[in-house]
Amino acid sequence: MTRADIPEPQTFSATILEGTLNERDSAASSYEKPIRVLPDVNVIKIGGQSIFDRGRSAVWPLVEEIAACAKHHQIIIGMGGGTRSRHAYSIGLKLGLPTGVIAAIGSSTSLQNAHMMQMLMAKHGGILVGFEEFEKLPMYVRSGGIPILVGMPPFHQWERPPATGRIPANRTDAGVYLMAEFLGARSCIFVKDEDGLYTDDPKKRPDARFIPQITARALLDMNLKDLVIERVVPEYMERAAHVRQIQIVNGLKTGTLTRALAGERVGTIIGANGL
Ligand code: ADP
Ligand code: MG
Repeated sequence: MTRADIPEPQTFSATILEGTLNERDSAASSYEKPIRVLPDVNVIKIGGQSIFDRGRSAVWPLVEEIAACAKHHQIIIGMGGGTRSRHAYSIGLKLGLPTGVIAAIGSSTSLQNAHMMQMLMAKHGGILVGFEEFEKLPMYVRSGGIPILVGMPPFHQWERPPATGRIPANRTDAGVYLMAEFLGARSCIFVKDEDGLYTDDPKKRPDARFIPQITARALLDMNLKDLVIERVVPEYMERAAHVRQIQIVNGLKTGTLTRALAGERVGTIIGANGL
């Protein structure tokens, strides 16, 4: 690079400096895509209620499967909160507490699960990583470790007002997804207790139909009564720079996560682009 290649300061900052940044079609949006921070990493969410709360029968085989996968893939795990989160939410809601503190307490149950998962994964390289150590992820991943993080995003008292009610819209699915998007991850896989997305909750409606693939837009437009992932996730996917596809797999069926990591179209694939 010669001196002539270095742009004059005003050529790359003037457009941003002039406006308010609120302006529609502001110059800021004309910048290129951001870099992928950890492009080879696979971000995996372990369901709280759907997987972890089931205990040994569900968790032990999954630990072994993730350990085997981690020999060939870089993996970061985000933990769900599960039934204990829901219990704490219901107490907080009845006490009249605002969304922000409901979100903050949601983090602590997800942390409990992260603590337990870390111990189960310790012999395979499981490391509990707090948000204050986020920048150390590259070192942990490079050394063959399996970072385990709280799934809940650290919005806490700054949680956005939900469209309805007081339950935070950004819970552990959203937190894990946003982390994957920030990292520019290779994949973002949600491990739950169903084969994927159905037209309704298959536990309540056995006639619900399985949806192997769908676009984020079509899913939002269907306005289903209940979803297997938090509704904000397909909303974010449409605005994402990198993680424009997610996969939902059944963690109770050993081998499914392995197949998803190998690129197989198992479970449900939700994509922000065409599929
Ligand atoms: P997590 O354990 O990650 O928090 P949730 O329990 O919040 O997961 O969500 C997964 C559950 O969502 C599944 O166990 C399933 O019973 C339920 N569910 C609700 N609606 C749907 C749907 N449309 N398709 C599939 N599963 C659904
Ligand atoms: Mg959930």
